[in-house]
Amino acid sequence: MTPAQTWAPTRTYRLGEFHAFEGGGRQFLYLVPAGAIFELDTAAATVISLLSEGAATPEELMEKLTQRDFAAGDAAELIQEMYLARVIVARESTSDSTGVSREPVETPPADFPLQTLVMNLTNQCNLSCQYCYEFGEDKVATPEGKPKFMDLTTAKASVDFLLEQSSGRKAVHITFFGGETLMNFPLLKQVVTYAGQRAAEQGRHIDFSLTTNATLLTPTIIEFLSENSIGVTVSMDGPAELHDKLRVFANGKGSYDIIAPRVRALIQGHRTRPITARVTLTNGVTDVVRIFRHLKQDLGFHEVGFAPVTTSPDRLYAINERGMDGVLEQFHILADEYLEYALRGEMHGFSNVSDTIAELYQGVNKSHPCGAALGLLGVGPSGDIAPCHRFVDSDTHSLGNIATGVDREKQADFLNRGHIGSKYDCHTCWARPLCAGGCHHEAFVRYGDTGHPNLHYCDWIRDWTDTCLRIYGAISAGNPGFLEQFAERKALN
Ligand code: SF4
Ligand code: SF4
Repeated sequence: MTPAQTWAPTRTYRLGEFHAFEGGGRQFLYLVPAGAIFELDTAAATVISLLSEGAATPEELMEKLTQRDFAAGDAAELIQEMYLARVIVARESTSDSTGVSREPVETPPADFPLQTLVMNLTNQCNLSCQYCYEFGEDKVATPEGKPKFMDLTTAKASVDFLLEQSSGRKAVHITFFGGETLMNFPLLKQVVTYAGQRAAEQGRHIDFSLTTNATLLTPTIIEFLSENSIGVTVSMDGPAELHDKLRVFANGKGSYDIIAPRVRALIQGHRTRPITARVTLTNGVTDVVRIFRHLKQDLGFHEVGFAPVTTSPDRLYAINERGMDGVLEQFHILADEYLEYALRGEMHGFSNVSDTIAELYQGVNKSHPCGAALGLLGVGPSGDIAPCHRFVDSDTHSLGNIATGVDREKQADFLNRGHIGSKYDCHTCWARPLCAGGCHHEAFVRYGDTGHPNLHYCDWIRDWTDTCLRIYGAISAGNPGFLEQFAERKALN
């Protein structure tokens, strides 16, 4: 009689999922399931090279390494280290034709206390920027019949809501937004006082920031912003001939001449926080390096960040593929400069690099592209709650009202659709820990679904992520201490 056979699964090692890159003359792997960076030495590179030929059992791998003059103890240690870092994986999992293991994506966080409330103090604006997501051709807002300005009752209820919904967090954040935020400056002042008091009663801290078009800045407002350490982002598109193409008053007149002196006064008078410029790139406004030089050197902004306009592709101001390639080339020029600065220990001010470096440093591995409807909510003048500031006043995207609370069913639907696990096209993309499919609002404008991946810019995103990885690698090789300042940094798009 044949003895009964017992079948133990054979353990085989395969390559984990990673993106290889070089920085500062060193080799690194971006470990996709972990969103982590692993520096590759010669020994680890040998294991990668061996497993690139196909999966191997532990015995086979050990044998191949010892044939290459590794001591058995060193080889075992190396395999263990690479296994623990998930550079190589051992369990059964799906693999593609290259033998690369693809691990299942993470489940969404079960508990997400609120961290940031974006308060749209008004839906009114004194400019008529043609590309505006709030008023332009692609707008999602339906403000008809709703209040144009938030009142104090709604504002106080919003602050209370933030404090209630953020239990466990010592510090939370309020961002003031519009319309044009400063059209409701009296309310902003009251909110700062009220929120500061309420937070202090609870032994907590609220940090404030605002976004403005700068047209209404006065010395008194600047003094208030500085005294209360309120972070300021100015929407500005460069020198006059570029800025005035689309950032115009209702009569078509450009706004540059009005805002430039106010911006200079802001930068000079606001001493407590860095001042940031936020540039919207559009067809004909893609001269990134020139815009950066003007905003950084001529006007003195501390940081400048760029984002291509959110639009359906057929709008006249949409940037076509060639235009986006040009933007990428110019991003590379500024990124190289950024690296030179960082190696000298200086901040360059190109915030697109800083924001990505911060995410890499923090080991971000996103289940969703951003905090919208997760740690961040928007609230409109009517008290309607939205996933973020861009969806404020949209009936389609409303997630409830400050008076009645969050509609958890709608929130769950938004989050389920936006989860990386629901985006089939993203499952095999190495950039997914940072991109996670891209902005929900852009997805809605482009594809009519907030959960659709933004497939129109994948190559662009992967190129830019690779660029930032290389910079990260070079900084970690040449001036690692520089990276420590990114532990706390957060970006708001
Ligand atoms: S949208 Fe594109 S770049 Fe972003 S994670 Fe999905 S496949 Fe990757
Ligand atoms: S990335 Fe898009 S959806 Fe997310 S917070 Fe920013 S604008 Fe809103």
